[in-house]
Amino acid sequence: MPWDLLIRNGQVVTRDGAHRLDLAIEDGKIVDIAAEIRGSAREEIDAAGLHVFPGVIDPHVHFNEPGRTDWEGWATGSAALAAGGGTTCFEMPLNANPPTLDGPSFDLKRAAAEASSLVDFGLWGGLTPDNLDTMDELADRGVIGFKAFMCPSGIDEFRHADLDTLQKGMEIAAKRGLVVAVHAEEPGMLDQSISKVAGADWQAYLASRPMLAEDIAARLAVTAAELAGCGLHIVHVSHPHVLSGIVYARERGSNVTCETCPHYLLLCDDDLRSIGARAKCSPPLRSCQDMWGMQSHLLHDIDFVVSDHSPAPESMKVGDDAFAIWGGIAGVQSTLPALITLYHESNRDYEQRKSNHERLRGELAVVNIPLGDYETLTLERIAKLTATNVAERFGIANKGEIARGFDADLALVDLDATYTLTRDMLLDRHKLSPYVGRQFRGLVKRTIRRGETIFLDGKMVGTSRGRLIKPRGEK
Ligand SMILES: [Zn+2]
Repeated sequence: MPWDLLIRNGQVVTRDGAHRLDLAIEDGKIVDIAAEIRGSAREEIDAAGLHVFPGVIDPHVHFNEPGRTDWEGWATGSAALAAGGGTTCFEMPLNANPPTLDGPSFDLKRAAAEASSLVDFGLWGGLTPDNLDTMDELADRGVIGFKAFMCPSGIDEFRHADLDTLQKGMEIAAKRGLVVAVHAEEPGMLDQSISKVAGADWQAYLASRPMLAEDIAARLAVTAAELAGCGLHIVHVSHPHVLSGIVYARERGSNVTCETCPHYLLLCDDDLRSIGARAKCSPPLRSCQDMWGMQSHLLHDIDFVVSDHSPAPESMKVGDDAFAIWGGIAGVQSTLPALITLYHESNRDYEQRKSNHERLRGELAVVNIPLGDYETLTLERIAKLTATNVAERFGIANKGEIARGFDADLALVDLDATYTLTRDMLLDRHKLSPYVGRQFRGLVKRTIRRGETIFLDGKMVGTSRGRLIKPRGEK
């Protein structure tokens, strides 16, 4: 019997590095992996000269459908993710309308995704003051976890969780074995800061959201999760000091993970001033030193790198008032290329990066926060940051790595390709990525989801749709 698909001669990125291996695929699963697989298949792909990564699992996207499909939608959002080597996403409970706060809203979003998504998908449920009594409905339907905002979210129908709400919601999540993810910025500190800034330019916006607000909120969330016995995930960490607090909690035994985004690794406050609205996010971009500091932690302390793709129509990204412009960075297509670019740079600029790390280590030692040694980024680490660690944290069976028995979710990448990202390469709806015009290394040539090619040489292909992914429920 021939296989469905054979992928020959690729440099396959497994847990212990990249090796030239063949892959045999049957019924959407990897059934054999070996230096040379004999036999034939209905389809054969020669991956000579390409690296084969696990398909990106992006656990933080806002596709905004139903309700705000004009901001993105499942068809365009999932196409753009696939163009960046993505095969699975977890969609956030806010920005779609209705927000995912109860069973019926979950069902609506699931139906929209099943109709249009090219990639497999998990759905986050919300944790807000309005839905503590419907969190169990969401858990019954298979949410990936619960997302809470500690400060106003910008969406009126998704209210932020005060500490009492957060604590109660964490207790419910803990009973269901689900993780709570928090947007960590402390609202009292944000109020104080905004009352002191003058004007409405980018500098004022940066000053209105200080690192201390993020740091305090992350520490409060850790304490609340420890008291509730709940797994905690801090989303979009922007600053190495916040990160070091999380590492410190983890070393004390706290069940906490964290993510950062390519924009905190590639962009800094100077870029917000020059790029403008397309680079507005919260927490905001930090200093260039902080950006270097974040890069130096990719090897150990950061669990995932995620897009936090948060698009909006161009009409919401214009104006003179930095506070009124809609915040959110639309970069869903660029996570894997961003990390491959950093991989090449980290090998080239090793001494400079190491000295940045040593400086930070000295500063943090003063406040008794330990940091590890600096090492260069590796390909197997990139696979962990973009896929393996996500699947493990949320208990996603058979996804996140290239191994026998796993789903054949694969990204075939020309690792050495150098190119400038242009707007016509983007497949999301509004194409307002802050990375347009930037030079990247690592070009995704083909994306395969459960054995089916869904993206090939710049274009979407494939006809089948993604399906709902549920967590196992135990951590
Ligand atoms: Zn987000």
